[in-house]
Amino acid sequence: MKNQNGYVDSFAKLIQCPTVSDSGKEYFDKFHKVLDNEFPNLTATCEKFETGRSVLLYKWKGKTADKPIVLMAHQDVVPATGDDWTVDPYSGVVKDGRIYGRGTIDCKNVIFGTMQAVDELIAEGFVPEHDVYLSFSDCEEIGGPGCEINRDWLTSHGVKPGIVLDEGGAVITDLLDNMKAPLATLGVMEKGHANVRVIARGQGGHSSQPSKNTPIVRLARFVNYCDRHTVFAPKMSPVAKEMIKAYGEVTPGFKGWVFKHVNLFSSYLVHTMPKKSPEFWGAMFQTTIAFTMMEGSSATNIIPNNAWVNANIRFSPNDKSKDCIAKLEKIAKRFGCEIEVLGAHEATPAVDFSGDEYNCLVEAIKQCFPGVVIAPFMLFGGTDCRTMQEICKTAIRFMPCVMTSAQDGRMHAADENFDVDAIEKMVNCYKTFIKMYK
Ligand SMILES: [Zn+2]
Repeated sequence: MKNQNGYVDSFAKLIQCPTVSDSGKEYFDKFHKVLDNEFPNLTATCEKFETGRSVLLYKWKGKTADKPIVLMAHQDVVPATGDDWTVDPYSGVVKDGRIYGRGTIDCKNVIFGTMQAVDELIAEGFVPEHDVYLSFSDCEEIGGPGCEINRDWLTSHGVKPGIVLDEGGAVITDLLDNMKAPLATLGVMEKGHANVRVIARGQGGHSSQPSKNTPIVRLARFVNYCDRHTVFAPKMSPVAKEMIKAYGEVTPGFKGWVFKHVNLFSSYLVHTMPKKSPEFWGAMFQTTIAFTMMEGSSATNIIPNNAWVNANIRFSPNDKSKDCIAKLEKIAKRFGCEIEVLGAHEATPAVDFSGDEYNCLVEAIKQCFPGVVIAPFMLFGGTDCRTMQEICKTAIRFMPCVMTSAQDGRMHAADENFDVDAIEKMVNCYKTFIKMYK
């Protein structure tokens, strides 16, 4: 059995595999060998299915095939060049009680935690009440089909998951000011998503003789308008309400009281909080637009015929993508621009966060993290769980990992890191949940 040092060494071996999305099959093959070696009981006991690409699917047979648990993660990571890192991003080095490296929180921690939990339970002779599947996609970070492959496999084999657990929220110790207790943030839905290209066309020419209102000028006016105005009105959603109530439990004083009585202060919160923090509260209550790419001419002295910017839109559950895009198109027209939609999908429905399966997870979390307050929430970004949610009514985005907001913010950034102390707690919580799930 591994001790804490054993956990760190083993976790570091996973980090040392640079499984960047689409880096090549050989990187994933090596990673799979590491997994086989690090989790020998799991390797010997669980069935492993070749479902496609470098996707992994393990089945640990329980007493019944009914209502299985599906523990999900993705093997791929976003690139890390090392330029802005203070350590080698693929070293898994430990510094000041933290293990550093790409994937330490997104999300090889989940792969390590789930596999280690299963490996230990097998060594203890435990047999789960229900089958347990481990489903690890290989291209989540680039929106690839890894998770679809396993969803389709499960569907075609008649597997109907009772609960799905994927990356997402965590046990956050400092999400709000002066928190009285840590918050376990359980993602129960995801915002929608679209990319819209906003195009301005015109008569290009030599930059020595510019005309007025060129394509770039019109695009700039359009972007400026969107930045300065509330394009999509903020609204309260049922999930946001539940989350704010949980915030009330951990926030001291009058502010906490207001959060607890969200029903009375709904309109006040919706209209004041996004002004205080557009990144957080704005994203919670509104459909947001971020301008992410742009293109004009190919030379410094050419006025382009056409120029474009990409608007990355995240739809709130209160808004339909069709209505938002129509509104954006209307605004674009006012500035002499047109739009082209490059794919859009709606916010997911909220999963069931009141049933037995959800409550069992909540009990396991409370047992493993005494004093924690449970906060259902809506993810602003997207995960593979969106796909698995199609076959499971309780698909929860949560990893039992204690971290600070600053650590959470290192996802996809330099110096991504995870507390060494948090590793054992994470493994323990996965074990507790599997044991409690009846
Ligand atoms: Zn991730």
